[in-house]
Amino acid sequence: MAKKDYYEILGVPRNASQEEIKRVYRQLALKYHPDRNPGKREAEELFKEAAEAYSVLGDPSKRSTYDRFGLEGLRGEGFTGFHGFDASIFEDFEDILGSFFGLGDIFGTRSRRRRPYPQKGRDLALELEVTLEEAAAGVEKEISLNRAEPCPLCRGSGVQPGTRKASCPTCQGRGQLRYQQGFFTISRTCSHCDGSGEVISSPCGECRGSGKIRQKKTLKIRIPAGVDNGNRLRLEGEGEPGDTESARGDLYVVIRVAKHHFFEREGDDLLCDIPISFSQAALGSSLEIPQLDGDSLKLSIPPGIQSGEVLKLKGRGIKDIQSNRRGDLYVKILVKTPVKLTNEQKELLKKFAELRGENLDEADKSLLKKFRNIIH
Ligand SMILES: [Zn+2]
Ligand SMILES: [Zn+2]
Repeated sequence: MAKKDYYEILGVPRNASQEEIKRVYRQLALKYHPDRNPGKREAEELFKEAAEAYSVLGDPSKRSTYDRFGLEGLRGEGFTGFHGFDASIFEDFEDILGSFFGLGDIFGTRSRRRRPYPQKGRDLALELEVTLEEAAAGVEKEISLNRAEPCPLCRGSGVQPGTRKASCPTCQGRGQLRYQQGFFTISRTCSHCDGSGEVISSPCGECRGSGKIRQKKTLKIRIPAGVDNGNRLRLEGEGEPGDTESARGDLYVVIRVAKHHFFEREGDDLLCDIPISFSQAALGSSLEIPQLDGDSLKLSIPPGIQSGEVLKLKGRGIKDIQSNRRGDLYVKILVKTPVKLTNEQKELLKKFAELRGENLDEADKSLLKKFRNIIH
């Protein structure tokens, strides 16, 4: 049989770009895929031909040898048709080839055989409530969770101690089932043993062969100063165990900061309301106000402060978790109007108004002025 030209097989011009060759090969591989053409020998032949052509033209150095010296040139480099070349150039087609064939097994070469990576364990997440004081200062907390642990009896193997795993009878321990389909040797992962090649004949009595048991686990965790609502702390390797101990998943602790009775938090700043009396507002005052760390702070209120005015205390907020810069404290002053006055107090206030030249039945002068400005 006359050897066909690889360019003709793929139907691309000799100056086709690598991208074009790749694209065309993908189309052909999909079109003639044996799983899409069951029992059609012709399609299978075309599929094989296209793969052989791509194995050469898809590799720029082999393509250049082929261009200059033809197949003979490739033989000089140890190329013998379907054997002895790197199947890794088919990696980009794993989506169409890999799901049906073990890569590298298409051509009966085992060089690029893929081993399954150890399966990583599941990540876990839990919520942890802290007080605002704890969030501001940082705290060490104990948390307990129910998570899977490697079974202590069989050490996670799932095998009854004293017995061993047996070779999988379905795949004879190879983990792959191989069969001949025309020219190809096709392999599939053995579903009986999930590709491990081994089966448990006497499962561990403690974990019933799963290798894992659920246990209550207590962990000490350090909550850094400055955490805020919704922050997630990642505890690496504290999730569920995977295939191996090193492949444990992670544990995420989601922080909930409880509402505080006095302070409100906005980013790294703290806000609070301080009620003062009318006299304090008028005469000024020096007050002690509480802080999150338990200490108190001196707040000096200037005379004549108005209700609703906000005083800023620099650096008295919460330390930023990243920069360590402290936020500020904003104190909103609320002037309380005196109520339940005694007759004497009423008299004094009337006298006070008189001394100020106030008419109790007249609107504030600044308000009247504003009215006039609107009218004119
Ligand atoms: Zn098997
Ligand atoms: Zn066990």
